[in-house]
Amino acid sequence: VPAAPHDASGERVAIRDLTGLAPPARPARRWTPRRVVVTPAAVDHPHGRRIVDRIEGLGIEVERLRANRLVGVRGETERETYARAKSTLAIVVSPPSRRALQSIAPSADWRADLAEGCPAHCQYCYLAGSLSGPPVTRVYADLDDILAGLADYVGRGTVTSRSAARAGEGTTFEASCYTDPLALEHLTGSWRRAVEHFGAWDAPVQLRWTTKYADVDTFVGLPHARRTRVRFSVNAAPISDRLEGGTATVLERLDALRRLALDGYPVGLTIAPIMPTPNWREHYGVLLDRVRAAVAGVDGLDLSAELITHRFTPGSKEVLLGWYPRTRLEMDEQSRRRRFGRFGAVKYVYQPDVMTELRTWFERELTTRVPAARMLYWT
Ligand code: SF4
Repeated sequence: VPAAPHDASGERVAIRDLTGLAPPARPARRWTPRRVVVTPAAVDHPHGRRIVDRIEGLGIEVERLRANRLVGVRGETERETYARAKSTLAIVVSPPSRRALQSIAPSADWRADLAEGCPAHCQYCYLAGSLSGPPVTRVYADLDDILAGLADYVGRGTVTSRSAARAGEGTTFEASCYTDPLALEHLTGSWRRAVEHFGAWDAPVQLRWTTKYADVDTFVGLPHARRTRVRFSVNAAPISDRLEGGTATVLERLDALRRLALDGYPVGLTIAPIMPTPNWREHYGVLLDRVRAAVAGVDGLDLSAELITHRFTPGSKEVLLGWYPRTRLEMDEQSRRRRFGRFGAVKYVYQPDVMTELRTWFERELTTRVPAARMLYWT
């Protein structure tokens, strides 16, 4: 992999130029929902009206609901319900439970939700089993109140204050627990406003999110004050090619990572879900080499890495098999180790010897191939 040309001007140097592996030349992948609805309560909020205007400006009809309940999503079969829900966008007010923030170690001090749901079709989706009901994407109209409410949590985190690797980040707020921000930004403008809010905030804070999309045009040039860290979720080719429907390609994501890094954003890798598929060392090695090419020559690079192995719960397995009945994703309880989380919930992770092998390889190869990356955690 050739080294990147130095680019102090911030001019775009595409990852395809660095790797010689050209992705198809096309504009950023953007989701167009088939149905968009807005509740009466959402229209009462300025940001709700902004989202409606933005979507109508794109030529998409917005259906005004008479009540604040979402109806007409369920189909005759589970597959039909899934298809309908996944193509629906609802503009709503966030439920009160979302406004009391929860700690979400090890990623961040607090979870701050600006939306719930995602239009992509990853066969291992983290949302399966976490959210109830059909997987409609809901974006929150009360954004201004949500952002104003974050001030109550500054200085109260435990994740970043306890970790030497996180020193200097301040109190961290994770905005992608239940959604993918770059999948929705062109329809909402919410995360751009959040970046500006954090950029203007006179306190040690960091906004962070992770994404499998690459539509960063509207973020380049924002006054972010290095207080937003965008991480790109990446994986070995056999996994991203086969299991991540509807997302940007990994090369497009790395291209976007480079563009944001050149614009001074702290950036990151979320390598997840790590799976020991056939020839995994070779495929993950290629991935790490592409990352190295993507960040080469970036002045002031701040690159973190979060490494997460695949796991599932009885609930997520059941939901995923309903959504993707023909999936080839391995979810075999017999070959896994049971681990108990908070409140006794069981999850299935890899056996200790597999975990050790994976972790040893990744720690060594990440240090060797991408020395600029600072590993935040392995799980
Ligand atoms: Fe689920 Fe993330 Fe994939 Fe969206 S991008 S379908 S939230 S795993």
